[in-house]
Amino acid sequence: MTTLLTPTDVARIVAHQGIGRALERLAGYIEADFRRWSEFDKTARVASHSADGVIELMPIADASRYSFKYVNGHPRNGRHGLPTVMAFGVLADVATGNPELLSELTLTTALRTAATSAVAARALARPDSRTMALIGNGAQAEFQALAFHHLLGVREVRLFDIDVAATRKLQRNLAGVPGLALRVCGSTAQAVAGADIVTTVTADKTRATIITPEMVEPGMHINGVGGDCPGKTELHRGVLEAAKVFVEYEPQSRIEGDLQQMPADFPVIELWRVLTRNVSGRDHDRQVTVFDSVGFALEDYSALRWLGDAARELGLGQALDLIPSMPDPKDLYGQLARRGPAAVLAA
Ligand code: NAD
Repeated sequence: MTTLLTPTDVARIVAHQGIGRALERLAGYIEADFRRWSEFDKTARVASHSADGVIELMPIADASRYSFKYVNGHPRNGRHGLPTVMAFGVLADVATGNPELLSELTLTTALRTAATSAVAARALARPDSRTMALIGNGAQAEFQALAFHHLLGVREVRLFDIDVAATRKLQRNLAGVPGLALRVCGSTAQAVAGADIVTTVTADKTRATIITPEMVEPGMHINGVGGDCPGKTELHRGVLEAAKVFVEYEPQSRIEGDLQQMPADFPVIELWRVLTRNVSGRDHDRQVTVFDSVGFALEDYSALRWLGDAARELGLGQALDLIPSMPDPKDLYGQLARRGPAAVLAA
């Protein structure tokens, strides 16, 4: 049997753990898996582009488990009453190929992206960082704000979105989070001025330049989340030129990240090298660091592990009759002919 986890199950897991602890636990799974990087069979995701968006498959495996995520990115989906990003995924047993877990990953993508951003920032941002600019206040934004609040101790988030309704929604959702001040700004430049961390999580299928070199101050950490597919960027190339740049999986980030603007030999460091202390992260307090995030399959593998463990602990999930269960595994035809071969042939 395959276990099915719905958005309601994921919401129950988060409610049971509390959002801060849920993000912390998920970050633990992600960090542990990044630390055993060499054990994974990795590949850049397979993308199918169309005029309005992209649909992607993201596979990865180690010796015991295989996972994949189906995910889209359609910035104009609001017109259809649908989110920009929607996802589901599978965790399977490598020894048999049996799909053990089938889960929603729309909510979970927001959780894992925020947890990954926080894991990277814990390794790269100045430890005394307390203020963050959050540019783009859509579906991912609250998760980013909460991850930086709970995992890094950010106390003030400065908000800007070209859609004021998105910012109002974020303010409503996060009003009353103890110790977290929200300040609405009139422009990206105003939000970024004086911030320790800058998170960009905008959606537009274009070569945007949300952050320009004159906005960047010494010592900032930039968490670039929204530039995640060919033709879609957020950072001016001058921002990358003046920074130490970190990525998840270099072959994928060269095609999809803000890095797509740079020459093929532009130097970047994969995050796992910093997490295993193989390479240093930030070298000094005035250095500018950039995490050019695009989202890598490893993070979904970790998230599926976290969900599977949490669901087992809480007794959540439905048994799904996805694969035929057969007394004789060679008698697949018998599944069609449960009421006798004649019943199939008669139709
Ligand atoms: P969303 O459509 O819900 O929100 C995006 C917001 O960006 C909107 O409110 C929009 O008004 C705002 N925006 C667009 N252009 C802007 C600009 N120039 N300045 C300020 N705000 C602007 O989308 P979402 O689900 O929040 O996703 C945001 C982006 O993050 C998407 O591009 C998505 O593909 C990407 N994403 C990346 C990862 C990752 O792992 N790196 C994971 C999930 C989503």
